[in-house]
Amino acid sequence: MLAGMTSEPEQQIGVGTPDAFQRLWTPHRMAYIQGEDKPTGPGPDDGCPFCSIPAKSDEDGLVIARGAQVYAVLNLYPYNGGHLMAVPYRHVADYTELTSPETTELAEFTKRAMTVLRKVSGAHGFNIGMNQGKEAGAGIAAHLHQHVVPRWGGDTNFMPVVGHTKVLPQLLADTRTMLAEGWRKV
Ligand SMILES: [Zn+2]
Repeated sequence: MLAGMTSEPEQQIGVGTPDAFQRLWTPHRMAYIQGEDKPTGPGPDDGCPFCSIPAKSDEDGLVIARGAQVYAVLNLYPYNGGHLMAVPYRHVADYTELTSPETTELAEFTKRAMTVLRKVSGAHGFNIGMNQGKEAGAGIAAHLHQHVVPRWGGDTNFMPVVGHTKVLPQLLADTRTMLAEGWRKV
């Protein structure tokens, strides 16, 4: 049974059931943001969302967890329900630029995200990785971010009932709460 979704009997994992979240099945939007508003640098006025998110509240920024070097944040344009990213606080573009502590915590956050998504959402599998450079599809190429995308058989996922009844911002807010609570309990 899903944490935070136990009050209504119909809110159960509906594997094989048509899924409202499929309307968000948009593989071309694997990037955080496409097109306009590309950041010009790490400063507060330079337009980098990954630099500005940590200054927001968890709720406003859709932050799931904060580490010493890295934070975990829900993707605004999810490839699938529960699509999150592990992001270093530091504005670096290339994986080879990460310090050892950043590399270590990015890996630890990725592992923990998998554990949390399995526990909270019953994810069957994952797509994990980084797009390095805009030519490789990175939306915000200047600030690297590791995607963790949960997958289910047929990609029926854990938001079917909520997805029918709530608009996307509320869906994201509820998903963030579930994952943040799951993160603290793992
Ligand atoms: Zn940045």
